[in-house]
Amino acid sequence: MTKTTFAELGVSSAVCAALAKNGIMAPFEIQELMIREAIAGVDLLVRAPTGSGKTFAFGLPMIERIRTLPTGRTPRALVLAPTRELALQITKELSDPARAAGLKIASCYGGVPIPKQAQQAARADIVVATPGRLNDLIERRLVTMSAVQILVLDEADRMLDMGFAPQVDRIVAKLGDDRQTLLLSATLEGEVAQLARRLTREPIQLRLGTEPLVTGVAHRFAVTQGEARMAMLVDELTTEQGLVLVFTRTKRGADRLATNLGRHGMDAVAMHGDLSQSQRERALGRIRKGQCRVLVATDVAARGIDLEDVALVVNFDPPNDQSDYTHRVGRTARAGRTGHALTLVPPADAPKISRMAVSLGLDAEWAATGIPVGAAKVVYSSKRRGGAFTPRPAQSASTHHRTAPRGRVKRGSHQA
Ligand code: ADP
Ligand code: MG
Repeated sequence: MTKTTFAELGVSSAVCAALAKNGIMAPFEIQELMIREAIAGVDLLVRAPTGSGKTFAFGLPMIERIRTLPTGRTPRALVLAPTRELALQITKELSDPARAAGLKIASCYGGVPIPKQAQQAARADIVVATPGRLNDLIERRLVTMSAVQILVLDEADRMLDMGFAPQVDRIVAKLGDDRQTLLLSATLEGEVAQLARRLTREPIQLRLGTEPLVTGVAHRFAVTQGEARMAMLVDELTTEQGLVLVFTRTKRGADRLATNLGRHGMDAVAMHGDLSQSQRERALGRIRKGQCRVLVATDVAARGIDLEDVALVVNFDPPNDQSDYTHRVGRTARAGRTGHALTLVPPADAPKISRMAVSLGLDAEWAATGIPVGAAKVVYSSKRRGGAFTPRPAQSASTHHRTAPRGRVKRGSHQA
């Protein structure tokens, strides 16, 4: 299998040559995904780890599209970045490809004299700016943004963390209505999702790397086995008043545990693939009517269950991997509510779960078990943002998956 080339993605030969001269020969994964979509002109919401090559991923389609758009007033593309350092870095990275395409690029950031910067920005095809300084220039009428047809928000989550939301909104109000918007962020949840709803139309989502953990979930891990494991579960179910979803690895395990819980005086129903449709309905009916508040399920069965108010997820058997963990705990803390997750870990699984916890950014939660945090290979780390549970994607576990099909189904929902 030969690798896709930049040319195949629609990057012009002059730009390809400029890239090759700088040693950029073949697209990285996020570049392949983004260039393909962005060149078509659609809005994108992108989450990908640091160092995955996002600058070219938004920069190259931006360059290619501007050259096809009518010339005339400038600037025609705007990149917003949270810091001066990032603005400079983006400008530097894109200057050769931009020049090769016959386009001018300029940057705007605070801390330097305004006149020369304003002059260059007003004449540039592409402006890379921090929100504060750009607003300054707009208010002084030194630049106009009405010809901007492509807007990029790089590190949008950091921009929000730094309190730039009002500034971004003010700038966006000055742009042309018929524009393409590309938003890149370490998370697409919470405030970033709100920003995305305000700024984008029918966006396609591209996600690279580990799935973000559901926010609003308190995670606990406990190393235990045998009788103690069962005792801990019973104890937990006695304390918790809300609906509890308990995960087991196997269908038989689910049946066995439900029966066992019954012996401990806890009414529980099992849910797995071997049940007939009517058995499933009956079990779910009892849960929904509040006759029973403990559901024991396998991973596969749980995916088909639609329950809104799960207060606690217990991993009676630990999840197979990070993705299973995320899916499982994702069953709680729905719709902005808070939830709890407890993972019971047999000693033999401790190293594996420790690594998983660390790569999900749950080091402290794991350390609370008393077992030292394992040496997971964390390639990328960032400070935790917002809720205390934002993950720290480890590149080693990186798998990309496109949510475009889902995004496509949802097309138009943002405008509703
Ligand atoms: P991100 O914004 O995702 O953190 P960058 O866009 O800053 O990542 O890219 C990280 C580094 O990788 C930069 O030094 C960049 O020059 C380099 N790079 C990007 N794309 C390629 C590529 N296709 N081939 C080789 N190096 C690349
Ligand atoms: Mg970047």
